[in-house]
Amino acid sequence: MPAELIDGTAIAREVRSDVARDTARLIARGIRPGLAVVLVGENPASAVYVRAKGKASEEAGMHSVTIRLPADTTQAQLFEQVDRLNADPAIHGILVQMPLPKQIDSQAVVRRVRPEKDVDGFHPVNAGKLLIGERDGFAPCTPAGVQEMLVRSGIETKGSECVIVGRSTIVGKPMAALLIQDAPGANATVTICHSRTVDLGAHTRRADILIVAAGRPRFITGDMVKPGSVVIDVGINRVDDVRAKNGYILVGDVDFATVREVAGRITPVPGGVGPMTIAMLLKNTVRAAELASAELASAGAAA
Ligand code: NAP
Repeated sequence: MPAELIDGTAIAREVRSDVARDTARLIARGIRPGLAVVLVGENPASAVYVRAKGKASEEAGMHSVTIRLPADTTQAQLFEQVDRLNADPAIHGILVQMPLPKQIDSQAVVRRVRPEKDVDGFHPVNAGKLLIGERDGFAPCTPAGVQEMLVRSGIETKGSECVIVGRSTIVGKPMAALLIQDAPGANATVTICHSRTVDLGAHTRRADILIVAAGRPRFITGDMVKPGSVVIDVGINRVDDVRAKNGYILVGDVDFATVREVAGRITPVPGGVGPMTIAMLLKNTVRAAELASAELASAGAAA
């Protein structure tokens, strides 16, 4: 029997509806969560992401700001914008869309955003908090979305063999950090694989939960998967397809046709992990607003 689909679109809708409810609750207390998205240059894919993020935050009832800067913006000019947003009490989350033009040091920009407003979860302070297991930081949206998806699908992570293919800073490493915590939706035994892993299939075939973020179209095939396992495909790749209207289709890092015949549950691409990423960005922004208001209240009480 083919694997059951995990419907990321439906789960993301649930998360976004929770976010809209929490946003309304905060607004009733006089706090409107605010998200600022900064786009430098005209990268078409980035422009699509930025529009989607702005639209989603407005739909959730948030204050939404999009700042578009020219491609020749200097690092100092971008820092100026980030500093302004850092100081703006109406903005609780700041996201600088990557990739940035060559003249700008991306890591320096990541570090410039105040950790309390880093809803992308890329600041080293948040990466450290995630690893240590401190709950007042922000986890990167894509791996946080995968964890949320597992929890909301009733998939038990505790004690499971979880294998992650890919060790990037935005997906693989934080994914592992989330799943090894002694916390709900975690407590897994985690293996991380990468391009220097010897005999990848020997690892992936052991996985009760296999999470793939390798950036290689249809890379994981049915013979690499344990029967009945859960397969989460983070990959989004454009591949040429003459039958498609625009000449390409989107596929994951998992060979859906063969893996579906072996796995117990699987995420599709598109409609799997993708929609969860924006939903988690909104969730992080609401939490940033909540944390900021709690801090203000305790500062007021101490004064
Ligand atoms: P990345 O930075 O390119 O990292 C890819 C990882 O895969 C690297 O750690 C690499 O190993 C590993 N890898 C490559 N070839 C391998 C092989 N033959 N065997 C084992 N490991 C191999 O990619 P990323 O940013 O993590 O993104 C991964 C995928 O997820 C991409 O398709 C991307 O488009 C997608 N993505 C989706 C979302 C979403 O919202 N759904 C968000 C982010 C990314 P080395 O470290 O040794 O090179």
